[in-house]
Amino acid sequence: MKDLLIFATNNQNKVNEIRAVLKNNFEIITLKEAGINIEIPEPYNTLEENAKEKSTVIHSLTGKNCFSEDTGLEVQALNGEPGVRSARYAGDDADNKKNIEKLLHNLKGISNRSAQFRTVVSLIIDNKEYQFEGICEGQIITEQLGTNGFGYDAIFIPNGSTKTFAQMEMDEKNIYSHRKKASQKFIDFLNKYHAQS
Ligand code: IMP
Repeated sequence: MKDLLIFATNNQNKVNEIRAVLKNNFEIITLKEAGINIEIPEPYNTLEENAKEKSTVIHSLTGKNCFSEDTGLEVQALNGEPGVRSARYAGDDADNKKNIEKLLHNLKGISNRSAQFRTVVSLIIDNKEYQFEGICEGQIITEQLGTNGFGYDAIFIPNGSTKTFAQMEMDEKNIYSHRKKASQKFIDFLNKYHAQS
């Protein structure tokens, strides 16, 4: 039987991406499927603290093994912004469209378009927390290309590709993705963990 893990997110895109990576090893239960209907706050200034907050909240509610992730887009020419504020870059009620518009505006005329997505996964297993990081480096383009994916996908081309994430199917995004890299570390950890226990 596959191990069961609650994924502390309400973002269905993230669930689909992580399920595609973990499908052979683990059964991922969403908050909705676990009967939990809350918006988990992200009150801190680092991805690490916010990821821990999300998994800790769900672990205290359920007592079950669970994980969360927090992701930010770190743009070199903007000193790492929007970073931990990626979801709220254009304001607390901002949507992806407004966030992208603000980012493209702030990068107007700037030739250094280097950026990276960084994901931090926080896993709580047997009451102990572990973190795993995944980074995907690439370039921010000047227009939006593609309709797949979510967030900033339409303006980000990962190094090694000529397409934006939004022009890729999920399996292709997962060749490059920050979330995939963090998830892979987390699978390797869990496989070793189980082998030892
Ligand atoms: P959070 O991890 O849910 O706080 O997401 C932070 C922000 O980054 C949100 O605006 C997301 O839409 C965006 N984001 C997170 N992961 C990705 C991704 O894989 N591609 C594009 N945007 C992302």
